[in-house]
Amino acid sequence: RVKGEQKNEYRLYSAEADEETEHLFSLQNDLDEALEKDQFYMVYQPRVNPADGTIHSMEALLRWDHPEYGSISPGEFLPLAEKTTWINDIGDWVMRAVSCQIRLWQQKGLEPVPVSLNLSANQLLQTNVVPHFLSIFQEYNVLPGWLELEITESMLIENESTARDILGSLQEHGVRIALDDFGTGYSALSYLQKFPVDTLKLDRSLVQGVSEEAGYQPIADTVVYLGHSLGMNVVAEGVECDKECRALRSLGIDEIQGFYFSRPLWTEEVYPLLVSGIIPAPTQT
Ligand code: C2E
Ligand code: MG
Ligand code: MG
Ligand code: MG
Repeated sequence: RVKGEQKNEYRLYSAEADEETEHLFSLQNDLDEALEKDQFYMVYQPRVNPADGTIHSMEALLRWDHPEYGSISPGEFLPLAEKTTWINDIGDWVMRAVSCQIRLWQQKGLEPVPVSLNLSANQLLQTNVVPHFLSIFQEYNVLPGWLELEITESMLIENESTARDILGSLQEHGVRIALDDFGTGYSALSYLQKFPVDTLKLDRSLVQGVSEEAGYQPIADTVVYLGHSLGMNVVAEGVECDKECRALRSLGIDEIQGFYFSRPLWTEEVYPLLVSGIIPAPTQT
């Protein structure tokens, strides 16, 4: 770290910024051992039918159990991993962990539960990605149709044609594709037609508006309509309260995901929910 050559540049290096930099640096250092020390785990958040609370599927979300800082969210450490080749190793670990979990639930006698998982750009665009993914599914004896891969628009932008080929091929093998965080990035509507997408996930920023009468409702409404017109399954993410849930239901949304129905859960918490297949809507929020 270089202190400023001019006096007033000192201001940039506050103690807080120093601490933050050090924190990130130590995380980055620890990250390369996290896999080998088995510090990653998955949590699962149900995606439910807003009308009756039946569980459609679940989204698998990565967590890092750091020996010093405790459970760390992917928003904090994945950007560090994305700068390195670990991101693909972590991505593989996630895919194996999820496949293994789907298999375990099935061995316990549950109906196959579709699970979605998030991909990073590097992971999607790695060479021979399609046979690679298929071989992982095969290793755990899970059908490609039980998995949905969540991608974001930003992953498609720089590699349109390659990404389209890869996604198309995955889809031909039965893997479902979801477009995550819709409404945050460019949200170029043409993408919806250009790329093979089964599920459209409305970002929380669009969801938040629907109950506030802040003018977002027509946008959410249009996106739901558009998704349905293209034959997609439309999901709202980050639904936190009854008001949002009701508003989205009236827009005809297919699935709701968010703290309102359930936080992301440990696998032991998920099992009894899958046995009953339903999460009753909270009575009041
Ligand atoms: P995402 O895929 O959009 O996942 C939704 C995020 O919203 C999750 O954060 C989830 O815990 C959070 N969330 C769920 N319900 C609510 C709610 O009602 N209100 C609010 N405020 N938040 C809610 P999380 O788990 O921290 O993950 C953050 C992002 O990290 C994910 O966003 C995804 O882009 C990425 N990510 C997570 N797991 C993986 C993974 O295994 N691989 C990759 N490549 N990325 C991952
Ligand atoms: Mg996601
Ligand atoms: Mg999202
Ligand atoms: Mg996100």
